[in-house]
Amino acid sequence: MKVVVIGAGYAGSLAANRTVRKVRGAEVTVVNPRPDFVERVRLHQRIVGTARAATPLESMLKAGIEVRLGSVEKVGNGAVVLDDGSVLLFDYAFLAVGSTVRPMPGTVPVGTWEGAEQARAALAALPAGSAVTVIGGGATGVETAAEVAEARPDLRVRIIGSPVADGFSHRAFDRIRRGLERLGVAIVDEGATAVTGGRVHLRSGASLASDLTLWGIVSGVPDLAARSGLDVDADGRALVDPALRSVADPRVFAVGDCAAVPGARFACATATPQAAAAVDNLARLVAGRPPEPFAVRYLARAVTLGRRAAVGQLTHRDDSLRRASMSGRPAVALKELASRGGKFGARTGIGG
Ligand SMILES: Cc1cc2nc3c(=O)[nH]c(=O)nc-3n(C[C@H](O)[C@H](O)[C@H](O)COP(=O)(O)OP(=O)(O)OC[C@H]3O[C@@H](n4cnc5c(N)ncnc54)[C@H](O)[C@@H]3O)c2cc1C
Repeated sequence: MKVVVIGAGYAGSLAANRTVRKVRGAEVTVVNPRPDFVERVRLHQRIVGTARAATPLESMLKAGIEVRLGSVEKVGNGAVVLDDGSVLLFDYAFLAVGSTVRPMPGTVPVGTWEGAEQARAALAALPAGSAVTVIGGGATGVETAAEVAEARPDLRVRIIGSPVADGFSHRAFDRIRRGLERLGVAIVDEGATAVTGGRVHLRSGASLASDLTLWGIVSGVPDLAARSGLDVDADGRALVDPALRSVADPRVFAVGDCAAVPGARFACATATPQAAAAVDNLARLVAGRPPEPFAVRYLARAVTLGRRAAVGQLTHRDDSLRRASMSGRPAVALKELASRGGKFGARTGIGG
C-alpha cells in the first residue's frame, strides 16, 4: 500500500514515522522542499543564533521511508504532482503542509525558514544602537522581540501589537509585558498600517524609525488544498470529517496547521496529536475497522521571554483560558519540554 506524506514538519514527520510503525506493509514517501526538518517553534531563536532549528530529514525519518525533495503542486484522485512534473501514486496521503506568513511589505517574516535566514543576516549586519521593530503582539511576536532583546542588548527593540500579549489571561498578560520590559523591549499597543522608507506607520497616524522590521505573525496556509480542488474554509484550510479525512477525498488525511479542525489553533501541540490520530485511523481502516473521531485536547500554552524566562498559561481542554498561569523556572521548563516533545514526536511517531 502506497502512502504519500506531503510536508515534513511536525505533523508530516510524525505521520510518516507512525505509519511505518502502525500500518503493516505501507510504503511511505515523504515530499518536502528542504532536506531538513525545520523546528518552526525555534525560528525566533535561529535568527539570533540560540538554536539551529534544522535537523537532516535522514535522522528524523525511519529507515525505509523514501524522501523526495520538491514541492507538491497538486493532490487528489490517488496522485500527487510535484513541481518537477513527476507523479507519485498513492492509496492514502497525508496533507501536512503547515501554515505560512503574509508579511507586510517592508518587513522580514520570522515564521518561515527563508524569512528567518534573511532576518538572521539582517540582524547580524545591524550596528549597535539600531532600532528593531517586531510587528505582532501574539506568541511569535513576543518570543521574537524578547529573544532579540536578550541576545542583542546593544539594539533598541520594540514590539507593536494591538494589544501586545493578547490571548492570555489577565495575570499572564501582565507577566509577559513585565518580562518584555525587563529585557528593555518598548511596548507599543497599536496596529501598524505600513512600513515605508525605514519607518513603521501606526494607525494613529504617528510613525517610528526602524532599521529592521520583523514580521512576527503566522497566518494563512499554502494554497495547495484549494488549488487541488479540495474543499477548504475561508482561510484555505482543508475541510475534514471527524476522522481527519478531506471531505472531498477520503483518501487524503489533512493534519496540522493546514487542516480546518474545529477548535484547533496553529500549534505544534495541535499538529502532532492530529497526525497521530489520523495514522491510527488509517491503521483502523486498513484493518477493516471504522475510524474514530478526533477530539481537540489542550493543556497549556507558553511563551519564552529569552532563554531564562517564560510564562505558561494553563487552558481548558478546548483551549479556553484558565485563570492560572506560571512563570520562572517551571514555565521555562514547561516550554522547553513542549518544544522538545514536538520534535520527539515527529522523530519517533509517538504522539497523541
Ligand atoms: C517562531 C515560532 C514559534 C512558535 N512557537 C510555538 C510554540 O511554542 N508552541 C506551539 O505549539 N506552536 C508554536 N508555533 C507554531 C508551530 O510551529 C506550527 O503550528 C507547527 O509548525 C505546525 O506544524 P505542521 O506540521 O502543521 O506544519 P509545519 O511545521 O509548518 O510543516 C509544514 C511542512 O510542509 C512543507 N510544505 C509546505 N508546502 C509544501 C508543498 N507544496 N509540498 C511539500 N511540502 C510542503 C513545509 O516546507 C514544511 O516542511 C510557533 C511558530 C513560530 C513561527
